[in-house]
Amino acid sequence: MKNQIIFLSFFFLTTILFAQNTYLHCGKLIDTKSGKILNEMTIVVSGNKIINVKKGYIPTKNKEDKLIDLKNKTVMPGLIDMHVHIEMQMKPSIYLDNYTLNEADIAFNSVKYAEVTLLAGFTTVRDLGGTGVNVSLRNAINKGKIMGPRIFSAEKAIGTTGGHADPTNGASRKLMGDPGPKEGVVNSAADARKAVRQRYKNGADVIKITATGGVLSVAKNGQNPQFTIEEIKAITETAKDYGMHVAAHAHGDEGMRRAILGGVKTIEHGTLMSEETMDLMIKYDAYLVPTITAGKEVSDKAKIKGFYPEIIVPKALEIGPKIQNTFRKAYKKGVGIAFGTDAGVYDHGKNGKEFGYMVEAGMPVIETIQAATITNAKILKEENNIGTIEKGKLADIIAVDDDPTKNIHTMENVTFVMKNGVIYKQ
Ligand SMILES: [Zn+2]
Repeated sequence: MKNQIIFLSFFFLTTILFAQNTYLHCGKLIDTKSGKILNEMTIVVSGNKIINVKKGYIPTKNKEDKLIDLKNKTVMPGLIDMHVHIEMQMKPSIYLDNYTLNEADIAFNSVKYAEVTLLAGFTTVRDLGGTGVNVSLRNAINKGKIMGPRIFSAEKAIGTTGGHADPTNGASRKLMGDPGPKEGVVNSAADARKAVRQRYKNGADVIKITATGGVLSVAKNGQNPQFTIEEIKAITETAKDYGMHVAAHAHGDEGMRRAILGGVKTIEHGTLMSEETMDLMIKYDAYLVPTITAGKEVSDKAKIKGFYPEIIVPKALEIGPKIQNTFRKAYKKGVGIAFGTDAGVYDHGKNGKEFGYMVEAGMPVIETIQAATITNAKILKEENNIGTIEKGKLADIIAVDDDPTKNIHTMENVTFVMKNGVIYKQ
């Protein structure tokens, strides 16, 4: 017994004294807090945490320490995408998949999507709706069973009957059934509360509602309001009780107006947002998640005959191309901007394209990177863990080959990825 204690003490002492630390020598380091690019910096990582950030290239201390040379790269915190659907990837068969795939099939597909997302430099994502496989995926990633980003999951999105998140839109009457709050379909304030509590019970971290019609649902209207303000308030108040914020998909102005007045934190897409609604966003401290990439993708794909069901084509052609211009106006007006792409609507792993589109619409490069790091971390209430490279934060660190302020498209090719202190790409 005594020997064991001596051995254990020795073991702990040596792990403290000779713990293997990783030193990253960074040619350029983006400080997302100040918005400045720092030259010749060293980040020291121990376990899953950053334990030091110092000026100059600090040599390793012990021979067990590891040195990573990123002197020719631009280093920044792991990126955060506030709007992905990690369970699916758009293809013409997807409307049939709803009736042919089992959860296990969805799970096997999503493993690959999670992997490419992480390797693209996105170390954290907010999954805004799937079948519930996204919760299991989150847990498997957290336990280290598979490779992927840290996931904050909405589980299944909440909609109204025939609304954008009704899972049986377009089905034959025989298969349509009558989904209710358990399945995320609500038609009253009481239903709305139950739907939120059910999501909590199913393991959700955030709540997603479809405040207006959408492009890719098999339904005619892509922008009509689909909730009463009482239903939205019932959702946001209940979500608050359970420590969750609410994200609202919205293309039409009236639906997003109700969503903001009802207390949602983020407006997804925001396509037809009026100037008055932009003012309301500022007043209520709500953020716009632009998803420009998805808008461009759906309007491109709508031109391929047969890619989408016929009912979707006119919606995709009308709504898709408008998103970037609304973003341009909202940014200029001072609306809070988060970073989110709707990955899954286009191919996972191409999330970095959004940076170029945001810059094209007038947002300075550094601000786009701040949106994808420090701003998103704040919305997730994770600002003490992620979003900056600072002592005490989780070691989520990525690097690109060029300086993004000179070439924004370098964000589409992340060449170094560390998440939670583990290197996934080098
Ligand atoms: Zn979406």
